[in-house]
Amino acid sequence: MTTQEQTSGFNLKAEGKRVLQGSSGGRVEKKHNPVEKAKGEYDVIVIGAGLGGLTGANVMATQGYRVCLLEQHYNYGGMATWFRRPGGHVFDISLHGFPVGMKKSMRRYWSQEIADSIVPLESIKFDNPQFSFETEFTREDYTNKVVEAFKLDRAHVERFYDHLRKMEYYNDDGRTIREMFNEFFPGRNDVHRAFMEPITYANGSTLDEPAITYGIVFSNFMSKGVFTFSGGTDTLIMKMRKILQQNGVDMFSGAQVERVLVDRDRVAGVRVNGRDIKAKTVLSNANIKSTVLKLVGEENLNPDFVQQTREVRLSGSSCQVYIGIKQGEEIPFITDLLFCSTADHFTSEELCDLRTKSRTFSFYYPKTRPHLKNAGFTIVSSNNARWADWQALSDEEYEVEKNALIDRTVSHLEQYIPDVREKIDHLEASTPRTFNFYTQQMQGASFGTKFEGLDVSMKLSEQVPGLYHAGSVGIIMSGWLGTVNYGVITANKMAEYLHEVSA
Ligand SMILES: Cc1cc2nc3c(=O)[nH]c(=O)nc-3n(C[C@H](O)[C@H](O)[C@H](O)COP(=O)(O)OP(=O)(O)OC[C@H]3O[C@@H](n4cnc5c(N)ncnc54)[C@H](O)[C@@H]3O)c2cc1C
Repeated sequence: MTTQEQTSGFNLKAEGKRVLQGSSGGRVEKKHNPVEKAKGEYDVIVIGAGLGGLTGANVMATQGYRVCLLEQHYNYGGMATWFRRPGGHVFDISLHGFPVGMKKSMRRYWSQEIADSIVPLESIKFDNPQFSFETEFTREDYTNKVVEAFKLDRAHVERFYDHLRKMEYYNDDGRTIREMFNEFFPGRNDVHRAFMEPITYANGSTLDEPAITYGIVFSNFMSKGVFTFSGGTDTLIMKMRKILQQNGVDMFSGAQVERVLVDRDRVAGVRVNGRDIKAKTVLSNANIKSTVLKLVGEENLNPDFVQQTREVRLSGSSCQVYIGIKQGEEIPFITDLLFCSTADHFTSEELCDLRTKSRTFSFYYPKTRPHLKNAGFTIVSSNNARWADWQALSDEEYEVEKNALIDRTVSHLEQYIPDVREKIDHLEASTPRTFNFYTQQMQGASFGTKFEGLDVSMKLSEQVPGLYHAGSVGIIMSGWLGTVNYGVITANKMAEYLHEVSA
């Protein structure tokens, strides 16, 4: 069995020191500046090739602007990424599920071919001491299941959905999710669990977040079920790269943006790997807090805005365990997504605990990558995690906790596949430290920031004309769909700005 100590890339050793690698994963000597072929000036510079940056870059390029995309990592995709391991394993990091809206966004802003590869998950299961059921997670099927499992009045559940659907960003009544649940389902921890657990797994939000964030995310999912990309994250990102190339975007990996340049109160370009490149507009896909506080710098900003940014809370982070099944071995079809827990009842705190008893298993069968001849089986377990818990550990303690996490996870999996341990030939874990290391998201935040980050993100261009942000922020603009759509919204604002300044 290969363990995380024996592999390279997503592990503690690599987390300790930054190395520049080729896209094959092999180490490359850093002989030249990866951005030496960049032009001296662009209409648009995009910092970061996460889904927000990639989409923003593409929208601007299709409108005829000269676009340069700068990514510090050797790979593109940010959190929407994958990695390979010996034994033919390909592990997807964040391809667990997104709403149907992704199909439309991909068709409009990427390609019909990408949109056509978006397919529904067949099955989602919930299993915990309070309830156990399987659902397609469509509105109709899920409603049937909760009405039956919790003996609820169907009309009341429908009223709850209607209430959620009417929620709007500009019409927020300031209530928390807890308050809303207590109004609709008082004293029903089991019902709160059924409605909240999948959303907490999905974006780390707790019962104390604004109800508006829940309303928008839940309503997005609760229509036609949960969708995935057939072909895997690698295929998606490769297709996106090809489209960007065809649209004339200059793309550079290994390109660390150190500074956003501001001249006469407007954005002027960026400093990347020690080189200044000019631009009329800059779109940052880095975390909004690092964009404001590190890349722009306080001296270029209004002190109130700086203070507002400091007060923005980051979203939670995650741990994952990557489980590779030996070539030639098979696992039975369990479900696509299994939300499971051995905790007696539901609390947001338990879900984020260092040693949580709650996790989501994503099962990747050969159907995930139908184009591969020998596509195997992999399983990725995800659980919510706090940066502070993992950051506090010494290197030795960190290794011990990672191994304990792996053990707990495999034991949990054995409840569903009793002989799985002997079929596994690869095990590896990632933590908030890993996500921070690879994407530079502050504290390894999986979903950028809590709700209040959205306001800061949207006001950035008022502070520094020409500078914009698009990326996971405020829960609403997070996840694959939220981030892609935010990339589009921001790109359109940038195009308007460019139109105005060139008029
Ligand atoms: C474990 C996990 C599971 C998830 N599961 C799901 C899921 O099932 N469904 C879903 O919809 N969402 C999921 N998400 C969330 C989703 O992946 C993210 O919301 C989304 O991919 C974030 O995109 P982004 O563009 O905001 O940022 P990121 O993906 O973080 O991209 C930012 C990019 O900017 C680059 N960068 C940062 N700073 C600089 C700099 N100074 N110079 C150059 N480059 C820089 C980074 O390297 C990175 O590539 C998951 C996230 C995690 C962590």
